[in-house]
Amino acid sequence: MQYSIPDYYKEFHCIADQCEETCCAGWQIMIDKKSLKKYIHTKSPYRWTLLRGIDFLHGAFRQKEEKRCFFLNENNLCNLYSNLGESALCKTCKNYPRHIEEFEDVREITLSVSCPEAARILLSKTEPVHFLTYEKPGTEEYDNFDPFLYSMLLDCREEMYRILQDRSLSLRTRTVLILGMTHDIQTRIDQENVFDCQNVLTRYQNPGAAKKAASIHFGEAAFSFQHSMLKSLHRLEVLNEHWPDLLLETEAILYMNGTGHYKKACRAFLDNKVLIQLEQILVYFISTYFYGAVYDGEVLAKAQMSAVCTGQIFDLWLARYIENGNVISEEEKIELLYRYSREIEHSDENLKIIEKIMVGHKVPWLQ
Ligand code: SF4
Repeated sequence: MQYSIPDYYKEFHCIADQCEETCCAGWQIMIDKKSLKKYIHTKSPYRWTLLRGIDFLHGAFRQKEEKRCFFLNENNLCNLYSNLGESALCKTCKNYPRHIEEFEDVREITLSVSCPEAARILLSKTEPVHFLTYEKPGTEEYDNFDPFLYSMLLDCREEMYRILQDRSLSLRTRTVLILGMTHDIQTRIDQENVFDCQNVLTRYQNPGAAKKAASIHFGEAAFSFQHSMLKSLHRLEVLNEHWPDLLLETEAILYMNGTGHYKKACRAFLDNKVLIQLEQILVYFISTYFYGAVYDGEVLAKAQMSAVCTGQIFDLWLARYIENGNVISEEEKIELLYRYSREIEHSDENLKIIEKIMVGHKVPWLQ
């Protein structure tokens, strides 16, 4: 089995009670079947407290006030962990914030930026992120797995990383390039002509492609598109009760005064540091979701979702920057990043809705 991790993976350490937004509150923690069985058969004086804290009907830990996990104590430490040890944690608690995507003989592990510490690490990276691979014994076969499509997606994603990390181009040009490329790949997939995808990748290596992408003019349509994408977030399941207010505030600050106002604020806000952080976020989304296209063939939707999500995080930052009187701290960027990720990435329902929106609404210059 091959495993892949981002190069900053080993920098992560849970800061437990020092964490500003524990992952043991705010959402329901589901328990895997193996752990449920283990809990039922636990022989320890802690057994009865353990069983009291489990909702067996839904296979989840019970919650106390403010959606805090039953086992989370007032010092923000886990009572289950302190009474029974690390080995007693369920799969979700053991893995978090590791996000694992599974493909036949490959496991791709990323660190979810819904964890403040993982968000902090990602935003502190100044060099382009690379992905490391290693092997472990074991194999697995999947019925609905298309190795040919998978191998094409592998090449396509490598090419996307190359483009996204080419800092000689503006971030806007890089984004246009990856969307144009995945659009052309999508056309080949829809026409059942996957063999021709290599030609698309070769075409996008040509400097002429970057020149053409740089010349695309973003007018009112792009502004309206970005606005409509922000509004579409109201259709999603809400995890944190303050989230809808944050969206409304962001919309009022950025989109009620026309394109000129938005563009002027962008120019003032966008410095080299922000551009590098946005590149890291875009690479993060591509690395987490793009390969999922092997199961549904929705290459363009995955790339577009990555670009739109990055744009929405940018919007949250920009609105806070304007609200603060043209200043935003790194801590605020981290906070907005993990709050966004918690709402969007930790609900399968929300991810499905976003993908559906992406399939139905192409970015304006691809229409
Ligand atoms: S959110 Fe991250 S740093 Fe905070 S308690 Fe959870 S794993 Fe640890």
